[in-house]
Amino acid sequence: MSEARILDGKALAASVRVKLAGQVVELKAKHGISPGIAVLLVGEDPASQVYVRAKGKAAAEVGFHAVERRLPATAREREVLQVVDDFNNDPKIHGFLVQLPLPKQVDPQRVIDAIDPSKDADGFHVVNAGLGAQGRGGVAPATPRGVLELIKLARSDLGGLEAVVIGRSISVGRPTAQLLIGENCTVTIAHSRTRKLADVARRADILVAAVGRAEMVRGDWIKPGAIVIDVGITRGADNKLVGDVAFDEAKQIAGAITPVPGGVGPMTIACLLQNTFALCKNLHGIVG
Ligand code: NAP
Repeated sequence: MSEARILDGKALAASVRVKLAGQVVELKAKHGISPGIAVLLVGEDPASQVYVRAKGKAAAEVGFHAVERRLPATAREREVLQVVDDFNNDPKIHGFLVQLPLPKQVDPQRVIDAIDPSKDADGFHVVNAGLGAQGRGGVAPATPRGVLELIKLARSDLGGLEAVVIGRSISVGRPTAQLLIGENCTVTIAHSRTRKLADVARRADILVAAVGRAEMVRGDWIKPGAIVIDVGITRGADNKLVGDVAFDEAKQIAGAITPVPGGVGPMTIACLLQNTFALCKNLHGIVG
């Protein structure tokens, strides 16, 4: 059997950004509006700093007005909520996010609840999550949107396929499952209490791993020809990024697979920008 097709998230994300940059130029020319995105980073978590920098760079490259605010790791919850309020009320900001994780004295749920749903670039607010759960649109979280785009690179019609999503977080696992239901897949959500996980995974025509345990998904968990999407990111002892899937084993069995790095990560940022662009048009009542 031939090796799996590698689903190149870096290249796909670059093409999304090129298209978006064109749309930004058009929006400015027709309506005089620049989409504005803001990110709040609290503390000095090294991975979060890398993500925030990457988001700011990508936003500036596509022509967005990009704002980054920082608070120290000692910041009180009310200071974080104040910045959220500032972004909610800033007419130049159309979408924003608070980078997670937050320091322990700040309740992430209270912070997410304070975000205006019409500016919720990450789609974590309960209003957007609820709309997504009912298949009524809203802002879908960026990583699941990226996951779906990558799956569609391998196959456009997903109707009737068996999909297994490992992980049930509100940011990745659950919304990914919702999007796959929307594509008419038969979806199983697995998690830490799932029995016989390898057997469950082997049923999948589409397998999405969003756990955060290095190389947990082995080659013999994969149905021959399956589409495998690896969301997990773990830093190995040598500081290299490792996914949830044992890539070298899996690529011998899968039909298509995402690498780590260069798979879901770049698509997450591209989809975050797409979300913000859509929010900008909504806020200005621009249709089409
Ligand atoms: P999370 O909130 O920690 O959720 C992890 C999920 O994995 C939970 O539902 C947990 O089950 C499940 N799990 C843990 N151990 C398991 C096991 N042994 N067997 C089966 N399921 C198990 O993490 P997350 O925010 O969803 O992120 C998941 C991974 O994706 C992380 O590595 C994260 O860094 C990465 N990520 C990557 C991107 C990107 O852009 N590439 C974006 C977001 C996240 P329970 O619910 O039962 O505890």
